[in-house]
Amino acid sequence: MPKGKYLYLRNGNIWTGDDAVPKTESVIIGDGKIVSVGTTTQLDAHPFAADAVVHNLEGTSVIPGMSDCHIHVMACAKGLESVDLSSAKSLEDVLERLRERSKEVGPDSWIYGTMLNENNWDKPVLPTAADLDKAWIDNPVVIHRICTHATIANSKAMELSGLNNMDMPGIRRDADGKPTGVLVEGAQPPVHAVLKKNLFTNELLMEYLDRYLKYAASFGLTTLHSCSASSLGMEEELGLYQTLWEEGRLCCRVYNIHDQLSEPSMGGLLGNDFVRFEGFKLFLDGSLGARTAALTFPYADDPTTDGMLIHETGELVEKLCEATRRGDHVMVHAIGDRALDQQLEAVEKTCAVYPEPKHPFLLNHVEILRPDQIKKMKKLPVACVIQPTYVPSDIDMVPARLGDKQELACVWKDLVDAGLLLCGSSDAPIEVLDPMVGIWALVNRTSYDGMRTWRPEQKLPLDQALRIYTTYPAKAHGTWRWNGSITPGKAADLVIFDRDLFAIDPTELRDVGITNTIVDGKLSRGCIDGWDCYR
Ligand SMILES: [Zn+2]
Ligand SMILES: [Zn+2]
Repeated sequence: MPKGKYLYLRNGNIWTGDDAVPKTESVIIGDGKIVSVGTTTQLDAHPFAADAVVHNLEGTSVIPGMSDCHIHVMACAKGLESVDLSSAKSLEDVLERLRERSKEVGPDSWIYGTMLNENNWDKPVLPTAADLDKAWIDNPVVIHRICTHATIANSKAMELSGLNNMDMPGIRRDADGKPTGVLVEGAQPPVHAVLKKNLFTNELLMEYLDRYLKYAASFGLTTLHSCSASSLGMEEELGLYQTLWEEGRLCCRVYNIHDQLSEPSMGGLLGNDFVRFEGFKLFLDGSLGARTAALTFPYADDPTTDGMLIHETGELVEKLCEATRRGDHVMVHAIGDRALDQQLEAVEKTCAVYPEPKHPFLLNHVEILRPDQIKKMKKLPVACVIQPTYVPSDIDMVPARLGDKQELACVWKDLVDAGLLLCGSSDAPIEVLDPMVGIWALVNRTSYDGMRTWRPEQKLPLDQALRIYTTYPAKAHGTWRWNGSITPGKAADLVIFDRDLFAIDPTELRDVGITNTIVDGKLSRGCIDGWDCYR
C-alpha cells in the first residue's frame, strides 16, 4: 500500500505545550513536520485533509513527544542480555540463576548479572568471588550492583581480566591482601572492558540498542539525553547510534553527554537532530543511599559524616569554563545541598568569565536543596534535571538520612514556582524508565503502593508535570526552536494515548496506555494503516 503524504489526527484532546493554542482537537503532519493544528471543523476544511491518511482519535490525548533528560541507554541495552538479579532474595538465589544461565549459554561464555541488591536479602552481605565460585560453573561471571558503584567478579573473571595483578584503589582485598572480587568505583572499568570484548560485541550491542530504543518508544519517549559514566562501567558509544541512524533504525533522538570534555577544536552539538554529542558531565558528590551526598549538616542516621565533595572548586570552575568556551552543555551530578553550593559558586565564577553561556548549566538530581539556593538559582543560567520517582523510591530513606531536615528534599513545586526549568528523567537503569510513572509521581507524590503521601503541598498539576517531560527539556537543551511543542513548523514528535489524560483520576496516570509514538513524522510505536514507521 502506498504511504500517505499527510497524516490527519482527528478529533482528539490535544495538549500542545504551546501557550498560543494550549489545547486543540486535531493536527495534520507531513514531511516530518507539524503542518497545521486546529479544531476538527477547521481542519476538516484544510486543503491537505482530503488526501490525508485519517486517524480518528476519539477524544484521546495527544501530547508532544517526551524527553528523558538523564538516562544511561547503553547500560539499559546491556541489561537486556543480563541476568536480572533484582528479585533475588539470597546468595543461593543468585547462584541458581547463574547456573541456569550457564546451561543456556554453555561453559565458556561470559555471564553478566545486574541489579543485585543484597539489602533485600535476609542476610544483607555483598557477595565476593569466593561466594560466586560456589555456583560451580566454568563461566566468567561479572555482576553489577544496583547502584552501579560496585561490581563483583568471580575468580575466573578476575583471572581473565588480569585484575589479580593490578594495583588500583577500589580493588577490595582480604586480610592477606588478596583481591576479594569486589571492585568499587574506578576499579570497575578493567573488568567491564574485558566483558565488552568477549560478550558485548558491536553487533550484539546494536541489536540490543535497537530493541531498547523501541522499548523506550513504547513509553512515548522521543528524545533521550544519554549519559556516559565510564568510571562505573556504563560508557556510551556515539558511533553505534550513528550507525543505527544511517540504517534508518534509530527511532529515538539520542543526545550523548560524555564524562570527558570534547576534543578541544570541536564545538558542542556535533552531529544532527537525531544523534549528537551534546556535552560534558561530571559528578560533584555521591548518593544519599551510601551517605556520600554532600550535605551542609551531618546525616541524621550517622552524625560522623556529612558526605563528600569530589572536586576542588577551582578545578570545577576550570572545567566549566573550558566546556562553556567550546559551547558544550554541562551537566553536574549534585544530590546534596553542599554539592549544589559548590556548583552555584562555580557557575557564578564561570559567568564572570563567560557572561553569556550558550546553554543553561544542567543541575542533575538536586534532591536536597535549601530555599536560599532556589533564590540564587533564579538569578543564574541554570536548569534542573530531576528524577520524579525519587519520591516513591526514597520515601523511607529520606526521613532516616535527613531527620528534621527532610523538608529540603524533592521540592519540585518550589522549583517550578521559582520559574526554574525542570527536566524530567528516569536515570534508568537505576530507576524505572516509564515517564508516565514520573508524571504520576509528580502529580500524586505517594509511595508506590499509593498508601502514603509525602509532602502533598509539593504536588504539581498535570499541566506542569507534562511540561517537565516535553516543553521544559526542549527549552533547557536548546531545541525549542524546532521541537518540544505541537506547533506548526516544528518537528512532528508526538504521543497518542489510549484515553484522555485530563479526564481520569490522577492516581491512574501510571496505568495509561500509549497507542502510538511518532518521531520526526514516522511511527516508532504502533501502526496506523497507510503511514510510515521505523523498521
Ligand atoms: Zn548522577
Ligand atoms: Zn545517572
